Amino acid sequence: MTWRADILTLFPEMFPGPLAFSLAGRAETRGLWRLAAHDIRAFAEDRHRSVDDTPFGGGAGMVLRADVVDRALGAVADGRPMICLSPRGERFSQAMARDFAAGDGLILLAGRYEGIDQRVIEARDLREVSIGDYVLAGGEIAALVVLDAVVRLLPGVMGAAESAVEESFSGLLLEYPHYTRPAEWQGRAVPATLLSGDHAAINAWRRAEAERLTRTRRPDLWSLYQRQVAAAAPADPVASADNAP
Ligand code: SAM
Repeated sequence: MTWRADILTLFPEMFPGPLAFSLAGRAETRGLWRLAAHDIRAFAEDRHRSVDDTPFGGGAGMVLRADVVDRALGAVADGRPMICLSPRGERFSQAMARDFAAGDGLILLAGRYEGIDQRVIEARDLREVSIGDYVLAGGEIAALVVLDAVVRLLPGVMGAAESAVEESFSGLLLEYPHYTRPAEWQGRAVPATLLSGDHAAINAWRRAEAERLTRTRRPDLWSLYQRQVAAAAPADPVASADNAP
């Protein structure tokens, strides 16, 4: 079955946007995934086709109405996970992208204004997902980010040339640096090991660089990695003998 994404938005013309290009665009042309954007306003029922109203309790801005959003969700709901893009949601990650790619597709709700009436988030059991600790004007760019990360992991989308096996977040290490021709540029030489043809030495250099970058840039990942390495190490035979009953 083709992996399908439906996006509910006030700005359907923003899609497919960048997803029409490169890897994701080619994959859609090849039928590996499908995208449909739906205008939330089409589900408004009053004369003015209003989708929002002022917040109960006062305060700035407008809130997307539960009844309108619920009708829009009802039109596409079919058991696929329903995501509400929100800055207060669970942080999007590579692990989440892998989970989404393993399913049948996603339904994504892009908010605008102050956000969405809480009752429809609860009634439809929407999973709130954030792409980071900052506030965007709307959920459309967040939906594009989620889809860009998920689509490239769908079976058949990446060829060997674009393998995800060694890249950042595939394990606990950030990826090592890359270099290409020319071998010297503005007085900067490519690290000699990479030109040596010695694959064991190249792998060791890349592993050391991945460890250095993770240790200096992401101490959170580094401590998880160290724990993983310690857990995988064989028990010290001397210490075991000492502790033997
Ligand atoms: N009043 C909200 C708050 O403070 O949490 C911010 C609303 S924001 C201006 C409008 C919409 O943009 C949200 O409903 C959400 O769909 C989207 N959005 C903003 N920042 C986001 C983020 N970091 N991740 C995912 N979606 C985001």
